[in-house]
Amino acid sequence: MRSKPDLISEKVYVKPRHTRPLLGVSACLSGKPVRFDKGHKKNKYILNDLSRYMDFVEMCPELEAGFGVPRPAMQLRKQQDEIRLVFSKQPDVDITQQMTQYAENRLAQLADLDGFIFKSNSPSCGVFRVPVVVHKDGIRERTGTGIFAQLFQQNYPLIPVEEEGRLNDPALRENFFERVYAYRRWKGIESAGQNVQALIEFHAQHKFMLMARGSEYYQQLGRMVSGTTKKDLQHRRNAYIKRFMEVMQIVSKPGRQVNVLQHIMGYLKKTISSADKQELLSVFEAYRNKQTPLITPVTLLSHHLRINPQNYIVNQHYLNPYPEQLALRSTL
Ligand code: SF4
Repeated sequence: MRSKPDLISEKVYVKPRHTRPLLGVSACLSGKPVRFDKGHKKNKYILNDLSRYMDFVEMCPELEAGFGVPRPAMQLRKQQDEIRLVFSKQPDVDITQQMTQYAENRLAQLADLDGFIFKSNSPSCGVFRVPVVVHKDGIRERTGTGIFAQLFQQNYPLIPVEEEGRLNDPALRENFFERVYAYRRWKGIESAGQNVQALIEFHAQHKFMLMARGSEYYQQLGRMVSGTTKKDLQHRRNAYIKRFMEVMQIVSKPGRQVNVLQHIMGYLKKTISSADKQELLSVFEAYRNKQTPLITPVTLLSHHLRINPQNYIVNQHYLNPYPEQLALRSTL
């Protein structure tokens, strides 16, 4: 009989809510030997770096759904136009229902999450391009999403998700944590109650983050906020945050970032010298030409803004979207 090792707690082991971001994580990534072969996929970035700033809810859907460790390997298989979860060596054994039932119960406990880092390629946890067997000869297409990851996203479409492998890409990594922290800020104003002004301020304070994706998105979201009344607040808020989180998934290009940096510099035009302006512009260009990471122009701008504070900029999250110790803008 397969045992369920005392490795994954049923409870959510976290520090008190709201102190640090709370992320779901596939348990094998945090080094727990929960894979089908008793192995793990320890991820040092999650364990050593992120754990200093975030709390995690570790979960292994296959183990928690009752399949034990060790267990037969699983795969996604297309059967009559449906994607089903089966045992790789016994494709006639359809275990989709067992996973789905588990997920329905477990998902109800995850509403507090600020994000989720899933294990790639897994028929349960993978988010992007998970292999699906589409032919009895074993031909695969990389078009699937793991069953648990899919249900999680259906239940919580606003919560940012990412895979551990994609976090090796600096642009995707920054994008994911920008979304995690923006979503936390949204939950913060939501828990403070219904308030038209809070919605307007949230939008205004994310102006440059949205412009870094495209000024058209800032304008589009602005129209969704404009004219909001108490009566239609709930409806507007729901539509706004849905679109906001969609837009935040766009990975900002250097040209768009430079537009934002120049825009911010415009607030300093009366207070800094020509030499300082020239220096800023040359650093912006060095960033655009991939000679220096984004943190360089952001740091220089922040330095000038500390000396010449501008109220409007101080409230912008663009310059401080997450704890600077995460060093997410430090890679070319
Ligand atoms: S990928 Fe998901 S289901 Fe597979 S071992 Fe890791 S946590 Fe468990």
